[in-house]
Amino acid sequence: MDVIYLDNNATTPLLPAVWESMRSHLTDVFGNPGSAHRIGARARRALEDAREHTAALIGAHADEVIFTSGATEANNLALFGLVGTSGGHIISSPIEHPSVTEPIGRLEQVGFSVDRLPVNAAGIAKIDLLPGLLRPDTGLVSIMLANHETGSLQPVPTIAAQLEKTMAFHCDAVQAVGKIPVHFHNLGVTTLSLSAHKFHGPKGIGALVVRRHTRLQPLMLGGHQQQGKRPGTEPVALAVGLATALDLAHRQAAERTEKIHQLRSCFLGLLQENASPVVRNGPTEVGCSIPHTLNLSFPGCRADALLMNLDLAGVACSTGSACSSGSLLPSPVLQAMGVPDEVLKSAMRFSFSALLTQEEVTDGARRVAAVVNRLRRTSVS
Ligand code: PLP
Repeated sequence: MDVIYLDNNATTPLLPAVWESMRSHLTDVFGNPGSAHRIGARARRALEDAREHTAALIGAHADEVIFTSGATEANNLALFGLVGTSGGHIISSPIEHPSVTEPIGRLEQVGFSVDRLPVNAAGIAKIDLLPGLLRPDTGLVSIMLANHETGSLQPVPTIAAQLEKTMAFHCDAVQAVGKIPVHFHNLGVTTLSLSAHKFHGPKGIGALVVRRHTRLQPLMLGGHQQQGKRPGTEPVALAVGLATALDLAHRQAAERTEKIHQLRSCFLGLLQENASPVVRNGPTEVGCSIPHTLNLSFPGCRADALLMNLDLAGVACSTGSACSSGSLLPSPVLQAMGVPDEVLKSAMRFSFSALLTQEEVTDGARRVAAVVNRLRRTSVS
């Protein structure tokens, strides 16, 4: 039985064209980009081309792109790097990824005070409450662009417009970059994180985009690479893969988006017909979410039983963010949205990519409906 992969917010398959672009940089162009000889210079050229290309595709300058091992590192670098050492006030949201909530939790432990901007029932930050949270000592704001569990889009440019020049604004844009148009300078943020494996690039590389003239303390010491902001020999092949994947995402944006929209509404329609009642968690209005994500609850079932039985039925999906899947803890994202307990307990995340076919999505919905109906029949209430 073929597995139908509906977990593309966790990671996406590497595209063959991306792998092709990387290959020679793992073999022939093997130099250290920091070396002074011509072997090093070739590697450096490839690295800097990848940086320039990435920057151009997200509306940034090349010297603003710092390659990291992924978005977890990029988020940590931004949060710890921007706050400095003096105490102060931080504003974030309750729906951030753990790679943001946990560093902020650590900062709270060491004396920073933190406020979390509440979200509405659709999972969108309540922007009207922001002025009441801003303080003269607010030094850092961290709000994501697209949520990993529901796909909800956050009003990042509107938030940026309300902040004083002295306040740094970090944006985790991992679930947006490579999926919808993202322009770093137009967003008005100080730093932005992205990760290649979310848009058919390789795992192990992401970037922190850092606005020029921003003071950022490195997390690591021991090298001069990348302006000292992220020392260590740069992974040239991975950087080339990131740039190629982003380039393809950009070129194919219109077809991918249309196809994903259509796949998602077909999947939802089939489940509403064959596995009712189905509750949709997150925004339902067009333009308020990325089309890749569908968070659905199936009252009468439990998410852990659904996950296991769907895996047996050949459907790969998730109960929430990849880091918490397999755990029985309720999703903090859905809790912050005020999703009632009974609905929360059966929430599943299905996430799509343009590599899926109509047949796979139809078959996937059929398998999900069969599992849901069987679990409902057999559950003891
Ligand atoms: N931020 C968000 C919103 C994510 O969805 C993820 C991964 O699921 C990350 C950060 C972490 O990304 P990485 O896997 O590159 O560390």
